[in-house]
Amino acid sequence: MRPLKPGERIVIASHNPGKVREIGALLEPLGLRVVSAGELGLPEPEETGATFGENAIIKAKAAAEAAGLPALADDSGLCVDALGGAPGIYSARWGGPEKDFAMAMRLVEEKLREAGATTPEQRKAHFTCALALAWPDGTAETFTGEVHGHIAWPPRGDKGFGYDPIFVPQGHDITFGEMEPVKKDAMSHRARAFEKLLRTLQRQ
Ligand code: IMP
Repeated sequence: MRPLKPGERIVIASHNPGKVREIGALLEPLGLRVVSAGELGLPEPEETGATFGENAIIKAKAAAEAAGLPALADDSGLCVDALGGAPGIYSARWGGPEKDFAMAMRLVEEKLREAGATTPEQRKAHFTCALALAWPDGTAETFTGEVHGHIAWPPRGDKGFGYDPIFVPQGHDITFGEMEPVKKDAMSHRARAFEKLLRTLQRQ
């Protein structure tokens, strides 16, 4: 993999401000100049992959090619064991065109009730993150991370985004929505995928 040099520009291939903020913070140690796909007005490609990794590669390659710069994409979501891994790669879509995650969280809760899942053990879930780093020449590499926990109800906290208010990470009793962002950033699925990415880049 080609190394990334301090001061080099990199595109964060996301139009989601919550993700851009988190990825920007996680990239800080590399001293790169970060620009988002939204700022560059890049189109959002259709996520037609069957896995988080495939979707991350689709987004990273599209941005790298369009911007002529290395690009980093994240595809992530919430996987609930009792729902067969749903919403999974469809986590964003459960929010509908209005990106209504209050509704998406209600949907998760309704389905868990239908499944008779009441205890934390029965409500086990994890966030997964696949990161893809792509270059304008079409090469790409992926790195994945997970954080495990359970689904709480009702939603609590407004510090995060998406499904954060219903996710309680293992070993904690507060949701990601209630957790200080700096603490979430240190233990999240995205942070774990980033550790792998940084380890690979720093080896070069
Ligand atoms: P995508 O990766 O842009 O397709 O969307 C992933 C979706 O998963 C987001 O819109 C969120 O709803 C959800 N998601 C991913 N990571 C997190 C997280 O750290 N907290 C809460 N929700 C997340």
